[in-house]
Amino acid sequence: PLLHHGGSNIMLGCTLENCLNKFLDAEKVENYFCHRCWHGAALKYLSVTGATETDIEKIKSCGGDDHCDCKTSLHLERMPWSNSYSHILKQLIIARFPKLLCIQVQRASLDMFGESVKLTGHIAFPFVLDLSLFTPSSIGLNIEKIQMSQYQKPETSRNSGMYRLVTVVEHFGRTGSGHYTVYRSVRVASESDEGEEDCDDPCEDLSWFSISDSEVYRVSESDVLGAEASLLFYERL
Ligand SMILES: [Zn+2]
Ligand SMILES: [Zn+2]
Repeated sequence: PLLHHGGSNIMLGCTLENCLNKFLDAEKVENYFCHRCWHGAALKYLSVTGATETDIEKIKSCGGDDHCDCKTSLHLERMPWSNSYSHILKQLIIARFPKLLCIQVQRASLDMFGESVKLTGHIAFPFVLDLSLFTPSSIGLNIEKIQMSQYQKPETSRNSGMYRLVTVVEHFGRTGSGHYTVYRSVRVASESDEGEEDCDDPCEDLSWFSISDSEVYRVSESDVLGAEASLLFYERL
């Protein structure tokens, strides 16, 4: 969620769309040292500088984990390439539209003292979500280098990216403990629907129920939308 001035409260008026945009935004990762890249560079360096077969084999066979001794044992402390930390950008991309979309609103956080706190506050979420608005082509990312065909379904695909909200999970209490309740939508067979199968109309008759342990009762749509959701389940239309 978007926070209010970097504090531990969710910004007033924060929406699920805000959260998704933030989740999918490019993130600058500082002081990142990639062991894999270092090993790749080291292998090239050893080959170019005419190192012995044994040394080359050693770097090749190393799994490149964080604690290997390649740097010291192969005297590569002064290797001119890739020895320093790098600034990288990390970005997540929605590549496919899953049948069931589960969104966890990350309400567990750490305060300035390192204590775990729960981020409270309402996040507005829609009954119908268009996930295609969050795929790379719509957000306008740096996509030149990405093979779009790899990520994007062809236009003819049946997967529209439209989702219908089916379940909302709400958490009460503090992080690490508390109580979960569920709002669940149930298809109600009205008389006009009889005989019609696979009705994909998002506006068809759905009833919402609130479930807390053994207590089950019918609720209104506005009750559902008012929930301080921790988990949201959307079904692809
Ligand atoms: Zn790397
Ligand atoms: Zn190694």
